[in-house]
Amino acid sequence: MTVSPRRYHITTFGCQMNKADSERMAGILEDIGYEWAEEPDQADLILYNTCTIRDNAEQKVYSYLGRQAKRKQEQPDLTLVVAGCVAQQEGEKLLRRVPELDLVMGPQHANRLRDLLEEVLNGSQVVATEAVHILEDITKPRRDSAVTAWVNVIYGCNERCTYCVVPNVRGIEQSRTPAAIRAEMEELGRQGYKEVTLLGQNIDAYGRDLPGVTADGRHQHTLTDLLYYVHDVPGVERIRFATSHPRYFTERLIRACAELPKLCEHFHIPFQSGDNDILKAMARGYTHERYRRIIDQIRSYMPDAAISADAIVGFPGETEAQFENTLKLVEEIGFDQLNTAAYSPRPGTPAAIWDNQLSEEVKSDRLQRLNHLVSIKAAERSQRYLGRLEEVLVEEQNAKEPTQVMGRTRGNRLTFFPGDLALLKGKVVKVEITEVRAFSLTGVMVN
Ligand code: SF4
Repeated sequence: MTVSPRRYHITTFGCQMNKADSERMAGILEDIGYEWAEEPDQADLILYNTCTIRDNAEQKVYSYLGRQAKRKQEQPDLTLVVAGCVAQQEGEKLLRRVPELDLVMGPQHANRLRDLLEEVLNGSQVVATEAVHILEDITKPRRDSAVTAWVNVIYGCNERCTYCVVPNVRGIEQSRTPAAIRAEMEELGRQGYKEVTLLGQNIDAYGRDLPGVTADGRHQHTLTDLLYYVHDVPGVERIRFATSHPRYFTERLIRACAELPKLCEHFHIPFQSGDNDILKAMARGYTHERYRRIIDQIRSYMPDAAISADAIVGFPGETEAQFENTLKLVEEIGFDQLNTAAYSPRPGTPAAIWDNQLSEEVKSDRLQRLNHLVSIKAAERSQRYLGRLEEVLVEEQNAKEPTQVMGRTRGNRLTFFPGDLALLKGKVVKVEITEVRAFSLTGVMVN
């Protein structure tokens, strides 16, 4: 199927998985002849890749859709697509809410965009939300960066955290084969990509659904085995992975990260709460003591490792004392970065119907107090970089200061310094850190 130059625009909400899906869908659209339009109003096909992790994320898409639905009444050949987690969650209901929509497709169908659009062009209004086995994607993604790339290793999640909508909207765990992942990374290395981030909602579950067990009964394919298997891919100089789960985090993985030079010393391990009763109510499957042991173990192998996490405040029934256990954990661990959120009841999740919901006032008060502590601790953590030489992979111009370029340290810290992007893009350079802020650094390049 090809189309005469029509233009497309994709708006992406939410997580890295959605960003990676959008890059692949853009690749498919360009493969069938669409061209990128910088502004939605210039496009003939508009795709919203949506997020439903919290209510405000979900509500965002409806305001965008309303405007484009009006536009479609004047421009009937405009194609309107909603993809991602709101599409999966709402399905047919979305067509009733926005009858102008042409295609509603869940995350598992991202690779099937070509076929689904074929049906739309034949005059159908399509809803694709049934569970499918995710096929390997042959199309070249249209990646946002020419230096760093996302590589999916496992889709979906089999956990049942009581606040989380992900398993309902992204389905069961589906691991890609090590060979398919390595092939994609080899292609990226040939194209000049220097850094790859391996992605999974619960990346520690990688390989559990793949056949094969070792003599001692372990899953043959695990994240640790995958890291050893892809470590020597030519051209790729840095490897990262996200998102980890404390329940499945192993010392074997930590040892591998310490041993393998390309593995960046940055770990993203959500803890969500510092209170064991709340962790139990969340069905997270670990205690704050276990979480602390993991961080201690990482720091015993890599004392300078950067640790980031996610935390939820105001979970149903959370008392002031239980909230203070979260503050205590944040105070004692000292995170380089912490993504914080107030609990938001999500459709189809167990905790959403519990009768011990907290008020919005209490939730926002706790969020404010936690954010205050997070920036204090992050600023403390940043101090260690002052005067140090850091390896920075140069990615872009500093949008705010054109004489500067920006990149990230191995610890994933955003760093700005004077430099010529044309000369430095995609290079790993040494930067002496002269100024530190809570979440970013400034320095000078050292030849
Ligand atoms: S591990 Fe829990 S929080 Fe993470 S995606 Fe799965 S269900 Fe959601």
